[in-house]
Amino acid sequence: MSQIDPRRGIPRTDALLTLPAVAEARTRLGDHVVRALVRDAQDRARRGDLDPEQVKSSLLEQLSHSSATTLRPVLNATGVVVHTNLGRAPLSKAAVDALVAASGYVDVELDLTTGARSQRGVAARAALRAACPAAEDALVVNNGAAALVLATTALSAGKEVVVSRGELIEIGAGFRLPDLIASTGAALREVGTTNRTHLRDYAEALGPQTGCILKVHPSNFAVLGFTAAVGLRELRPLASEYGVPLVADLGSGLLGPDPLLPEEPDAATALSDGADVVTASGDKLLGGPQAGMVLGRAEIITRLARHPLARAVRADKLALAALEATVAGAAAPVTQALHADPDHLRTRAERLAAAVGAGVVAHDGRVGGGGAPGVPLRGWAVRLPEAVAAALRTGEPAVLPRVHDGACLLDLRCVPPDDDERLLAAVRAALDRIG
Ligand SMILES: *Cc1c(COP(=O)(O)O)cnc(C)c1O
Repeated sequence: MSQIDPRRGIPRTDALLTLPAVAEARTRLGDHVVRALVRDAQDRARRGDLDPEQVKSSLLEQLSHSSATTLRPVLNATGVVVHTNLGRAPLSKAAVDALVAASGYVDVELDLTTGARSQRGVAARAALRAACPAAEDALVVNNGAAALVLATTALSAGKEVVVSRGELIEIGAGFRLPDLIASTGAALREVGTTNRTHLRDYAEALGPQTGCILKVHPSNFAVLGFTAAVGLRELRPLASEYGVPLVADLGSGLLGPDPLLPEEPDAATALSDGADVVTASGDKLLGGPQAGMVLGRAEIITRLARHPLARAVRADKLALAALEATVAGAAAPVTQALHADPDHLRTRAERLAAAVGAGVVAHDGRVGGGGAPGVPLRGWAVRLPEAVAAALRTGEPAVLPRVHDGACLLDLRCVPPDDDERLLAAVRAALDRIG
């Protein structure tokens, strides 16, 4: 039985709130966040997890690395480049600068020369046109799914969307393309079979009731064996004959071909092969912010931009700014990670491994985000005991390794080289924690 109640020594809330560092944190983080941290430190002392004398120092320590968001930056050591659970593409320095610049008042819908209202997002549209000259015009919306919904709604509501059965995909998190199209008020006209669809299947389905022909890139799986699909080039004459738009949902967002990913469709090729418009994501292989892009024939882009639904799926100023900077700027982190030199990755992995007495193993990274399934990205990983993984995830900085085959693997492909020292410190701390 303790005679002195340990809780008596716990600093009072008002005393803590008036500390200069705490007052400063209240202006930075807001009262609510700071009070929650104060309560948390006091609660830990009440439970006996913290010495009452350390409440103040623990609070100050917490505040020093707190931010107004509870989202925590993570070092991605999985080797998966477009990691959906980690927010897909990390932004380039140029995109981050653009985003910060756009965070205040910004001329997103204003012509500063004339003082008159301008079209929203003209700069992002111009950057996309410059990066993909095969596109007469471009439109930026909220995400890839929104781009597809807008295109099918504007072109096919009350009519039919003709699509191959082999392309009725589920993208992820239960998101199914057929459901999405049905929600637009367009009817799905399925043609062909799961493994084989021929030109005559499309021809038989076309008529006055057709709104558009849709080609979907089945980005997250591959059908092998006895298969047949009809490409955009073969569909082009048919679309022209019936006067219906040919839409291609590409998914990944490559604007031009990437020799590393020969199976991955890109906007320039799809448009020159005959698509009237293509839709794609901004935060997959393009390496930008969450956004959806529609690129292609000016007349169709205008129809989409004028449709009432366009207002409901419009991109915000931050996404527009970051997308423009990504498209116009130097190679985005996603592109760099994809094309990282295996020898360089090995050198970095060996340096990290040597510093903590671990070994290095060959390890294939992946494109991720449902893109280029089965395409290995040759690289290396530092191999640690599996138990290190949890300590790494909950450390500071948080590190997400790959847990595989009873080991914790650190693939440096998606870790910026400038962060190697931070990663090493995190690994040392995690090894210390598990003892
Ligand atoms: C990812 C993807 C989408 C959806 O794009 P979001 O940006 O995630 O909304 C649509 N179609 C295909 C083929 C995709 O790969």
